[in-house]
Amino acid sequence: MKLLDKVVIITGSSMGIGEAIAEKFLIEGAKVVLNSRSQSRVDETVKRFIDQGFKSVIGIGADVSTESGAEKLVQGAVSSFGTVNILINNAGINRIAPSYELKVDEYKRVLDTNLAGYFITSKAVGNYFKDNNGGVIINIGSIFGQVFTGGRAAYSSTKSGLKGLTNVLAVEWAPDNIRVNQVAPGYIKTNLDELDQSDGGYSDEDIIRRTPMRRYGTAEEVANATAFLASDEASYITGTVITVDGGWTAFGGWS
Ligand code: NDP
Repeated sequence: MKLLDKVVIITGSSMGIGEAIAEKFLIEGAKVVLNSRSQSRVDETVKRFIDQGFKSVIGIGADVSTESGAEKLVQGAVSSFGTVNILINNAGINRIAPSYELKVDEYKRVLDTNLAGYFITSKAVGNYFKDNNGGVIINIGSIFGQVFTGGRAAYSSTKSGLKGLTNVLAVEWAPDNIRVNQVAPGYIKTNLDELDQSDGGYSDEDIIRRTPMRRYGTAEEVANATAFLASDEASYITGTVITVDGGWTAFGGWS
């Protein structure tokens, strides 16, 4: 159990990749704080884990794009489990639209959640880490922070901005024993991907054909990389990114 008794906050973990990360961390012995904007949605996820026999799991409804939401997560983790050791910034939304038409308030809403939200939560938890012997932060990015296509001005602004945020915090907070890294997934079958397919006009077959490994990734594969970076096995790794994409970003060919 490489995360035994570590207390982890996983933002946006009522479903999808966040939920898979939570399951992996519970299997590895961690105590898990789940989160979504909705207390009832996160409570349903907590119940699924309790029904599977996991005990050390709670859910906190909080909007991570607000400072009050971030503080609520830190206070909830400390009051239930006594401390916080790991933060996974995972909550994310997308809005695919031609940039000529994308509404500015929609652009800002994506930035508020995927980028400002990651800073806000990192700041709240980072201050706790500074006063409590350090910790680990992992930001869930995307291949669309590294390679680009149309219709994703908001999403790619956040996911490429994350490289700067991750690396600045890694450098600035290293003396306080805080490691900060990024995991960048390729295409994973989740609710977000279903919405993106209808807004973005692509199909499963398009993704499978374009991916050198000829398949979608799984949320568990993203969770495995995240658990490694959070563990002491990665004790000298900070300011880096692990891309989990079946070769998507490596591919530069034409067929
Ligand atoms: P889902 O849509 O399946 O899940 C998103 C989660 O985030 C939900 O639990 C949602 O709950 C929560 N959430 C959204 N906004 C907020 C907020 N402001 N505060 C708190 N919670 C919030 O998405 P995925 O699991 O697919 O994506 C997770 C992360 O992985 C995102 O950062 C995404 O960009 C990234 N990613 C996903 C890929 C994919 O192919 N699926 C590929 C690359 C990266 P609620 O609505 O109840 O608040």
